[in-house]
Amino acid sequence: MNYRIHALTGSLCGLLFIHYFSLPLWYKGAVIYSLVVIGSLLPDIDIPTSYLGRRLKPLSILINLIFSHRGFTHSLLFCFFVYLFSLIIGLEFYGVAVVIGVFSHILIDLLTKGFGSNRILSILVEAVLFLCHVFFIFFLFS
Ligand SMILES: [Zn+2]
Repeated sequence: MNYRIHALTGSLCGLLFIHYFSLPLWYKGAVIYSLVVIGSLLPDIDIPTSYLGRRLKPLSILINLIFSHRGFTHSLLFCFFVYLFSLIIGLEFYGVAVVIGVFSHILIDLLTKGFGSNRILSILVEAVLFLCHVFFIFFLFS
């Protein structure tokens, strides 16, 4: 799937995370939301032409050479290491946010395996995710 679908899924997960923990929308909520969205894009860093891969090209090429696409960065072990890293630096709550984003990415990739670059399916999924945002934001702010 393309980065927009992963970002939209991460965005939805971020909104759910903020709502579940009743976080204030400003500062901590915004940071958590951003981390979930970044986490949802993180696994595709193993593709040098991906959204994050283009911005972090040397790292992306290195990861692609070592693990190849949909390897280590698309595994639960990667989630564990992200969480472990956040634990070591003492920011485990923020680490959970990134892990939720990474997990949403892995889940979407699993669900859409085989559909690959189906343009119509991508548009439909984006439309559904957009509508979910509209309903959820209405629910969150009402
Ligand atoms: Zn992926």
